[in-house]
Amino acid sequence: MGSSITCLGGLLLTRPHYRGPMRWVDWYGDGSLYVLDVALACCALEFDAASSSAPAPLPPLEDRAQLAVIISGTVTDRLAPAVAAIVEGCEQQAGRRPMVISFGACASSGGPYWDSYAVTKGVDQLLGVDAYVPGCPPPPEALSAVLDRVAGRVVS
Ligand code: SF4
Repeated sequence: MGSSITCLGGLLLTRPHYRGPMRWVDWYGDGSLYVLDVALACCALEFDAASSSAPAPLPPLEDRAQLAVIISGTVTDRLAPAVAAIVEGCEQQAGRRPMVISFGACASSGGPYWDSYAVTKGVDQLLGVDAYVPGCPPPPEALSAVLDRVAGRVVS
């Protein structure tokens, strides 16, 4: 079971200048897809329910390895630059752009806090988003399905 809530969300909220290693989940356990959860609120629990292994520092990547960053939870305007910096940092660390997935209503549109002055109305105002997972809370299996699709593991 992943523990991304404490490893990243807590760091963002309590130590915004943290520059330690990011921790990734080897999604299929075969090094083909590494996933980083930017865990900001309760959607991060759904990420943990979807993931089956513990996060770890990113190993040297094989050419075929894909990367995905999941934005899970409520993005506030105050936090938004840190979220964008994490995605930029991932690109620098890995040498390739990760897929960005907006997980849940809050990350996609502000969700139940859409009319709050402090909440960003969708992470796509900061970043290019490759896929959206709707719901409040979004079902963990929907995240798995999106990752299967972007990883090319869906047989149509
Ligand atoms: S979309 Fe719902 S479950 Fe997810 S962070 Fe927002 S309020 Fe929580």
